[in-house]
Amino acid sequence: MTDILPFLKSLISVSGISGYETPVANLIAEKWGPLVNEMSLSRVGSLHGLKRGTHKSPRPSLMIATHMDAIGMRVSKIVDGFLHITNVGGIDVRVLPGAEVTVHATGSNEELPAVIVMPPARFLPESAGNGVLAIDHLLVDTGLLPREVERKVRVGDLVSFANEPFELAGDVISGHTVDNRASVAALTVCLEELQNKSHAWDVWAVATVQEEVTYLGAYSSAFELLPQIAIVVDGTFAKGPGANGWQTFPMGKGVGLGIGPNMHPFLHQKLKELAERLEIPWFPDVMPADSGTDAFAVQVTAEGIPTALVEFPIRYMHTPVESAAVKDIQRVGRLLAEFVLSLEADFVDTIVWE
Ligand SMILES: [Zn+2]
Repeated sequence: MTDILPFLKSLISVSGISGYETPVANLIAEKWGPLVNEMSLSRVGSLHGLKRGTHKSPRPSLMIATHMDAIGMRVSKIVDGFLHITNVGGIDVRVLPGAEVTVHATGSNEELPAVIVMPPARFLPESAGNGVLAIDHLLVDTGLLPREVERKVRVGDLVSFANEPFELAGDVISGHTVDNRASVAALTVCLEELQNKSHAWDVWAVATVQEEVTYLGAYSSAFELLPQIAIVVDGTFAKGPGANGWQTFPMGKGVGLGIGPNMHPFLHQKLKELAERLEIPWFPDVMPADSGTDAFAVQVTAEGIPTALVEFPIRYMHTPVESAAVKDIQRVGRLLAEFVLSLEADFVDTIVWE
């Protein structure tokens, strides 16, 4: 199996805040180009790669969706050369002070390096205290003089995390967009595994936009492609200090398979059996309702699409240091590829509705 780490590191070095995914989309398009037969962008910017199957037409198709957008921030106000920010998507505000960021300045069309800072307590209202500050009390310092800031930066400009990916000991990758670029990497592993192998079904490799905010890409790509079945890949909460026992999963110990009303039980069962056959360790991720991922949007599109959710555990979700085990990402990729290879032409007819 190819080493996915170099590509994953490049994926988590670029921005691609929800609604502004072009930098990462370009990178993925370049990588997927040689691995698929056709590639296109959806009307809203999701990337569709088609790897054609061998069965006679009309061929059934499987969509594998991974969101490529990332959480980030946006300038809400400029005061004395400092930027106030608000969030795009859910952000863990507790770890923002000290973060290295890039201000995408539209006034001068420049990328400005900056840091997020916490003003001294005496400059803050008493209610803010000395604890965690709400995002509207944090500031972004570009190091520029106030008049330069006024000239270059506009209210509404995007602010993305700028810290470089970092390999921790123990084969763990840490960075700002492991959610969900690691899934894009896993899908890339799948495409690489499928090279020079024949599979009956068409495979749509999809990198969706705006999962973190509206599921726009998942809804619209599922509607455009109308696959017979779909698999969504995303991160889930890994065990870590203070994390509870039942909603979190050991990192480096395998892949998660979502189970609940959002996921089709037959697909779950098939993935589970396949994982066991391949000796890929897996754990059930029990979800009482909507999974909070693209799987929800895909499942409820058009006439309804039987959907499964495959996951890998992430520690420190929605921070600039999201961390995941490289091994789990490789395993997800392999499971996806083997699932594609296992699909018989009449698979849909075998689906049992319980
Ligand atoms: Zn995600």
